[in-house]
Amino acid sequence: MTYMTQKAQPTRIGKVYLVGAGPGDPTLITVRGQNLLARAEVVVYDYLASSKLLRHVPKDAEFIYAGKRGGGKHTHTQDEINQILVDHALAGKNVVRLKGGDPFIFGRGGEELEVLAEHNIPFEVVPGVTSATAAATYAGVPITHRGYTSSVAFITGHEDPTKTETSIDWDKIATGVGTLVFYMGIKNLASIATNLINAGRAASTPVVVVRWASTPIQRSVVGTLADIADRVKAEGITPPALVVVGEVVQLRDKINWFEKRPLFGKRVMVTRTREQASELVNLLEEQGADVLERATISIQDPDSWAPLDQALAKLNQYDWVLFTSLNAIRNFFGRLHAQGKDARAFGPARIGVVGSATAEALQEYGLLADLVPAKFTSEGLSESLVGIGVAGKSILIPRAAKAREILTDTLEQAGATTEAVPVYQNVRPSGYDEQLRQELTEGCIDVVTFTSSSTVTNFLHMLNEKDPGKLAELLQHTAIAAIGPITGQTVRDNGLAVAIQPATHTIPALVEAIVRHFAG
Ligand code: SAH
Repeated sequence: MTYMTQKAQPTRIGKVYLVGAGPGDPTLITVRGQNLLARAEVVVYDYLASSKLLRHVPKDAEFIYAGKRGGGKHTHTQDEINQILVDHALAGKNVVRLKGGDPFIFGRGGEELEVLAEHNIPFEVVPGVTSATAAATYAGVPITHRGYTSSVAFITGHEDPTKTETSIDWDKIATGVGTLVFYMGIKNLASIATNLINAGRAASTPVVVVRWASTPIQRSVVGTLADIADRVKAEGITPPALVVVGEVVQLRDKINWFEKRPLFGKRVMVTRTREQASELVNLLEEQGADVLERATISIQDPDSWAPLDQALAKLNQYDWVLFTSLNAIRNFFGRLHAQGKDARAFGPARIGVVGSATAEALQEYGLLADLVPAKFTSEGLSESLVGIGVAGKSILIPRAAKAREILTDTLEQAGATTEAVPVYQNVRPSGYDEQLRQELTEGCIDVVTFTSSSTVTNFLHMLNEKDPGKLAELLQHTAIAAIGPITGQTVRDNGLAVAIQPATHTIPALVEAIVRHFAG
């Protein structure tokens, strides 16, 4: 490395991006907002901004939870939040201030920017889908409609408590505006309704209250100005919720699309063995389910790196190096790089992979596979190699600590010398039994899905309940869905009943079977 002497640079000032996160569904953020998250160095976020959005942020960024919930459980005061923004911008950071909904709609975005302006800190604002339009949309209410209303007002139901007089002119809004949407209005709902009625709005005006709009846990309660407060109380609705008042609410009967999706309101626990996001989760969410993913396997480093290190020292002497999983590739290259080496260490050694996904992963390290079998299995890989001819060849197979021997056996029989070295191990997560039990007994899990026998055995291992009676009790309110007969048999072998099992053993068929289970 070369070093150059540098003159002291004036400190670069960072920039603050005030970004609307949208109402709850993390996919309702704008493209601009998502792009800014992807290059943020500091993210300051609220509790209303979906935590799933933080996935877009680089891992080495600084995450600051600014909190703020009704009821005084604030993590930071507004002054502290302002100061956090100022300090990080002055330190030269690229700061994203992520706010639920739209930053300028009851989000105190204006106040934060005033402070930044006073400090001459540059900023930009990205609007977001505000929860009012989302709540109406996801409750099946067109917020305006030619036949019903030509105006809409966004109103705070919770004014600054230090104010002595209301700044809401009830006489004007009660009858002067068609659709009224109240933010933060749940605590004061009874007085909001009374004020509107007293100011001349018909007591029979329809109202819908929507909690956690646009998310899988959305709940809505319909009533009229006369009875909505009691209904909301009876249903136990707590913030965050929006109150939509107006004749347009009637249209919900025809337009309520979101809550009518087949699995809306159903909570499904998906057990999985791999790290990757799954097709199953996406398909279930498409049908409206609230999905909880639970990994039944965690990928860890091998007990010892010594066998791999010895192999790496002579990597260029192998005829073939074979990768049969993404984890093997990731861990192999992690170790190679940690030793200050890169892909050139392979020298003339040729590389075989098990399928297209492993081939793509390899390419990320700048290498093209010499062999990808037509059949994407270990058997396919060994057959292809044997076809090419492996007699007298030396073959390195970096893989899981406990792996099937089929590949090594076949290659050895064909005259090759194989060396299988552990580069990762599958470990059953432990210490989750309390959490899982709680989720099953209190979390109202409607379905738990199993897509292989190992998910069943690992899940039961995690649950750690030896008594069959107690195990059945834990799962008494949960329907077990198994992808096929082998997985189903493993469930039954453990003394549990299978409620859902599709005729064809595919993920889409499993989802269809779950939908049918609830439809019937
Ligand atoms: N800037 C935000 C509003 C912040 S004020 C926006 O544009 O949406 C906080 C209030 O917003 C909550 O008390 C609640 O009334 C409403 N709110 C925010 N997200 C919501 C959601 N997903 N569902 C229902 N109400 C929500």
